[in-house]
Amino acid sequence: MSSRIHEPITALHGVGPARAKAYARLGIRTVEDLLFHYPRSYENRGDVRLLANVAENEKQATVLTVGSAPRVARIRRGMNLLKFRAYDESGTCEITYFNQDFLRSVFTLGEEFRFYGKVEKKGKNYTMSSPAYEACDGKKALAPLVPIYPTTEGLSQNQIKTNLSEVLRIARTDLVDFLPDEYRLAHRLQSLHSALTEIHAPVSFESLAAAKRRLVYDELLLFALAMRGSSKKQKQHGAKKCLARDISKFLDLLPYSLTNAQKRSIRDISNDISTDIPMSRILVGDVGCGKTVCAASAMLMAVQSGYQAALMAPTEILARQHYADLAPLFEQLGYRTELLVGALTEKKKKEARASLSGDKNTRADIVIGTQALLTDTVSFAELALIVIDEQHRFGVDQRKILAEKGEHTHVLVMSATPIPRSLALTLYGDLDISKIDEIPPGRQAVDTYLVGESYRERLENFIRKQVSEGGQVYVVCPAVEEKDPDDGDVMFEDIGLSPDEFLPEKPPLKSAVEYAKTLSERLPDLRIAFVHGKMKSADKDRVMTEFAAGGVDVLVSTTVIEVGVNVPNACLMIVENAERFGLSQLHQLRGRVGRGNRKSYCVLVSDSKGETARERLSTLCRTHDGYEIAEKDLSLRGPGDFLRASSGVGLRQSGALTFRIADLCRDTDLLKNAFADAEELLAKHPDLTELPALREEMQKRFSPDTASIT
Ligand code: ADP
Ligand code: MG
Repeated sequence: MSSRIHEPITALHGVGPARAKAYARLGIRTVEDLLFHYPRSYENRGDVRLLANVAENEKQATVLTVGSAPRVARIRRGMNLLKFRAYDESGTCEITYFNQDFLRSVFTLGEEFRFYGKVEKKGKNYTMSSPAYEACDGKKALAPLVPIYPTTEGLSQNQIKTNLSEVLRIARTDLVDFLPDEYRLAHRLQSLHSALTEIHAPVSFESLAAAKRRLVYDELLLFALAMRGSSKKQKQHGAKKCLARDISKFLDLLPYSLTNAQKRSIRDISNDISTDIPMSRILVGDVGCGKTVCAASAMLMAVQSGYQAALMAPTEILARQHYADLAPLFEQLGYRTELLVGALTEKKKKEARASLSGDKNTRADIVIGTQALLTDTVSFAELALIVIDEQHRFGVDQRKILAEKGEHTHVLVMSATPIPRSLALTLYGDLDISKIDEIPPGRQAVDTYLVGESYRERLENFIRKQVSEGGQVYVVCPAVEEKDPDDGDVMFEDIGLSPDEFLPEKPPLKSAVEYAKTLSERLPDLRIAFVHGKMKSADKDRVMTEFAAGGVDVLVSTTVIEVGVNVPNACLMIVENAERFGLSQLHQLRGRVGRGNRKSYCVLVSDSKGETARERLSTLCRTHDGYEIAEKDLSLRGPGDFLRASSGVGLRQSGALTFRIADLCRDTDLLKNAFADAEELLAKHPDLTELPALREEMQKRFSPDTASIT
């Protein structure tokens, strides 16, 4: 294609090597790049005021006539001041510019200009310093909305605008609209050329919004195509078909019946693993919704079909817990489960490994473990399915290593971080999603309270009361140690906040180590222990195991306990400096209690006076719906927390989420449409071969690197 649109930016009038270099700093190399360089904001210059009516300290538009010839005065070395008067029917304004002597020939006496800037009132006179200006030449009305572009040194707004008007002229003939008409019409979107014209030279806020819709949809559709397309491409055949899918004997062993949501998820998984296309599915659902039994069902289908399955958990304690829960069930059905964790003796580990690679009659069917599963020496005879619990704790590479221990392995990942739907699509858009949106019946709600420092004594009495009744208590603190300056930083990262989010007020940090010490002094008869992320993992696990066994009354910790531990006897969760945590994270922490028969409580301690902080925390007192909480978190704090919490998904989201015009908080509906359309398009046109323009645009905007998960 010899389209002028693909020529280098230097093809434009007045763009020489120097300006091209400035453009390159903005990532703009071709004419087309500039066409898609969207304004950062717009100035409303259409609302022209009389000088007498301008509001102070606000940028506004005025139309003034030059009333005195500009004069240049030298204030000091290297600093010239250009000054003139201009007027309208309501008053006179003195206008000044620094070091722009050339304006002397622009502001001719008697000519009319539209100025845009802050007007100050000095006595009876007005002043303006360095306002933006446009000549009213009488031939053409001035545009009401003026785009402001992201720019860089050596490139002025006016230069960009001049270059763009040429680019838009070129685009009128040379731009190809890559979106198939049927989709454009179905969503009542305008043509690409008219949308781009409007975005660069809007007629009104309404028409601008319509244009934006087209460009946002484009961006999201291309993103969805890249994500869904890349996952489709990886769907080679060759996975082990798990056809023995009757799990009724297993379900009979459970003391409860499945919720409908669990049944639905198991059906999704079952359908996937019965084909020879490797499954890549994520199972999401709030803490305690019962994901484990779904995973267990899948593993059972695999082993009943004559294959092996592996379950990887992020901590040893969690792996042991799954093993203790599941191995006896599998045993009763005639299947053998091995545990493989780092703390086992070398001999035990060796035996476990040997039994995984053995022949059909002697080998283990299932293995449950930690990262210890990833070592080279672990190999499987016939691995069909892997399950990754709490997927966000693992990197993409780790999942891949485990999957590659089989051939075209079915992969099920599980996550308890409730993610707003809009983000789920962008984070997991290349996975199929099953969602458990139902909590098993009969759960007690955890009563949640927000208290201040003044409740300290009552809180200690409450701890004492719970323990004396046989319950156990978690206390979570944001920091490890008080006086260690490094810790501060680590902590900020740990809990996913940047220090400036702590403003305006900063109550002192509670640290786990100090807290445990103080608490031991105040409640000497209680057994108090602490764990934090800086401890060796063997030490951590030892304390956690002791707590789980009931040997510790109060466990003081940083957020290391966040992940999946199940201590049904724990009935009180206290979170210190609660304002420092994300809502979803607090919700996770609260999920650690209320797992048994005891009436359970969550107490959020915060002396923060900030309004947002209080509003956020009171959300938790009001609701237990993890998704509602997640939506609230998203609307109050943006997507950052979720992206950090889901960092195991890989680095791609940093690329994927720097959308140029789409906004995930706002454009939820378009996002859903875009994913549905992408699905349909790819079904009709695998690889998009018949839609080369669309494919080319997708590759240009979202390279396969930024949009693939495994
Ligand atoms: P999570 O989804 O957070 O991993 P788990 O799988 O650990 O949740 O389940 C939490 C608890 O709920 C477990 O003790 C489990 O036995 C129980 N459970 C799971 N499904 C049901 C159900 N349908 N009815 C009652 N209890 C259930
Ligand atoms: Mg779990």
